[in-house]
Amino acid sequence: MPELFIGGRWIAAVDGRVREIRCPADGTLVATVDEAGPRDAAAAVTAAREAFDRGPWPATPAAERGALLLRVAALIERDKDALARAESLDTGKRLVESAYDMDDIANCFRYFGNLVASGGTDRVVDTGNPGVDSRVVHVPVGVCALITPWNYPLLQTAWKVAPALGAGNTFVLKPSELTPHTAIILMRLLAEAGLPDGVANLVLGTGPDAGAPLTEDPRVDMVSFTGGLVTGRRIMAAASATVKKVALELGGKNPNIVFDDADYETAVDYALMAVFLHSGQVCSAGARLLVQDELHDRFVEDLVARARAIPMGGPFD
Ligand code: NAD
Repeated sequence: MPELFIGGRWIAAVDGRVREIRCPADGTLVATVDEAGPRDAAAAVTAAREAFDRGPWPATPAAERGALLLRVAALIERDKDALARAESLDTGKRLVESAYDMDDIANCFRYFGNLVASGGTDRVVDTGNPGVDSRVVHVPVGVCALITPWNYPLLQTAWKVAPALGAGNTFVLKPSELTPHTAIILMRLLAEAGLPDGVANLVLGTGPDAGAPLTEDPRVDMVSFTGGLVTGRRIMAAASATVKKVALELGGKNPNIVFDDADYETAVDYALMAVFLHSGQVCSAGARLLVQDELHDRFVEDLVARARAIPMGGPFD
């Protein structure tokens, strides 16, 4: 079955390109998937634009949108094992970590489902100024391009998709070309939950070929991006040409600080976990460690000894 999801249909890339997905832990071939180019990206924007301008979704009552998100949360829990396995094959991360991610993802859909179902009431604000009427109204932004990285593929996607749908937007999702599988499964679950055709669209492919066209397309109203700083700069520049709204979550270098009154054993263990969890491929990884002088030598020695003892292995070991 083809893997691009556009206007409620599964289709292949127009120019027939495909990509091999390999597990980074051992290089085994996971699957071959369709690889979109600019024409596929444009078709996905057309579908999302039509679904926003003509479709029922933006005008669907908030309670119904919230209920759909809650159904998605339940479907993620139902399919948690298969999703976690797919995530581990694509990323190489340990299965137990992928399973934690799936719990977070179900909770994310549940959180936004409840938020949307319970809130968002428009209201009139008293300005204290006779003859001036001021209102707070909640309206969706429009068509959103959602572009995500490879380290937490479905979690990053959920943090974008759940609020975008909850607010009544339509979207085109462009996951990392390295880790497409859980995004493909999510599209199936959204359709199963009853999302109308064209609201959720998926293009797989590289940043320049499938991502950049989304950031340049005047029919896209907002870009939400998580990834590296250099890409973030490019996206902000591209989006400025059509004055899109932009949300960027970029890379960082995060310090942990240890003073000599800390619980020593716990501090060493947490410093270790902070930098080696998911092989250190975490945006909030503790990549810098500031240790009080008096502790420094002993702390470094113990940290190195415990780092040496970490067993290497694949996601299913
Ligand atoms: P990346 O910037 O290379 O790619 C991220 C996404 O952008 C991918 O889907 C990629 O195909 C796409 N892309 C690349 N060029 C593009 C372009 N010109 N236009 C549109 N899309 C384009 O990042 P990565 O290597 O996939 O992910 C790792 C980075 O993500 C690290 O820097 C990490 O710190 C960061 N990250 C940040 C957070 C956060 O919340 N701040 C979370 C996770 C990861």
